Amino acid sequence: MQGIEEVRSVLSYPKRIIITSHRNPDGDAIGSSLAVYHWLMEMGHQVMVAFPSEYPAIYNWMPGINDIKIHDLEDEEVDEFINSADVHVILDYNSLSRIDKMGDRLSDQQHFTILIDHHLYPDALGDFILSDTSASSTCELVYRFIKAFSSRPQISPKMADCLYTGIVTDTGSFQYSTSPALFRTIADLMDLGVDNHGLNHMIFNNLPEKSLRLLGHCLYNRMEILDEYNTGIIFLNKHDFQVFDIQRGDTEGIVNYLLKIKHVHMAAFFRQQPSIVKISFRSKGHFSVEEIAKNYFNGGGHRNAAGGYMKSGLAAALKKFKEVLPIYKEKLTKEVLI
Ligand code: 5GP
Ligand code: MN
Repeated sequence: MQGIEEVRSVLSYPKRIIITSHRNPDGDAIGSSLAVYHWLMEMGHQVMVAFPSEYPAIYNWMPGINDIKIHDLEDEEVDEFINSADVHVILDYNSLSRIDKMGDRLSDQQHFTILIDHHLYPDALGDFILSDTSASSTCELVYRFIKAFSSRPQISPKMADCLYTGIVTDTGSFQYSTSPALFRTIADLMDLGVDNHGLNHMIFNNLPEKSLRLLGHCLYNRMEILDEYNTGIIFLNKHDFQVFDIQRGDTEGIVNYLLKIKHVHMAAFFRQQPSIVKISFRSKGHFSVEEIAKNYFNGGGHRNAAGGYMKSGLAAALKKFKEVLPIYKEKLTKEVLI
């Protein structure tokens, strides 16, 4: 693995290391951060994991989760650590713009930077970069990195649980982005002690009642299917956020339901947040939502899963999306090969 000797030499003495991942961290962001956290701590480094914003409560069981710092809530403590750190590990994102104010703070520093990520178009951010857009998840890449780092890689059961969590969530429970290498990795993780059945239970059967009521509301009252464009939309307004007491992470996964409809090739999920409208896009087959997110909604991501935002009201965001659809009509309506 190119450049890994330098990483080996940097990590051969105790260092202060800041690990960061993206705003609204998901299972892969949290899993990769905690796996690297445990790995580095076991090597004797001083380590802090910091996210710009809070993680969903469904991950509260993950080993080490209570050690994570949230910049929105504890900026002084995080900034102080950033200022005195030697190494910065960037996981599951590839542009400092994804971590807001924390990005401004980090861009001023001279840290040795390690970037491990699977998103498109990485900024040239790292002294060491492992960026592979064909990988299922950052956790898959972290596993590859740790294996390459040492001929006798130390992967504790805690680390294995974290890596499994990122992989199972980012692949939609092994529905997409899979490969023979990924299943070999999963087999290795199970050899290391991963109880996949137990972890799946913790990850997927862990919702409060209100989440299912919210899903019902989205599917029954807030879903619009635009047959002409093979596109489905779900939106949630400010009132919905109050009525259903929606917290961070509570809307995760809802967008995917639209793709269960046979003729829906693109799904868009609009959430009216206090100052922006956040949008999640999903697609089937060759149709790229990454292009739509990047060109029209200040965002990006992957071909089949992307996100963006608009600093407008909800109605304006929905209107803009519907204006964009005719541009993609041909691509959307012709057969989308899986
Ligand atoms: P989600 O819809 O689950 O929040 O995000 C889906 C994918 O799009 C993820 O890979 C995420 O990193 C990417 N993504 C979501 N929001 C943004 C954004 O505002 N900017 C960029 N560049 N990517 C985003
Ligand atoms: Mn990921």
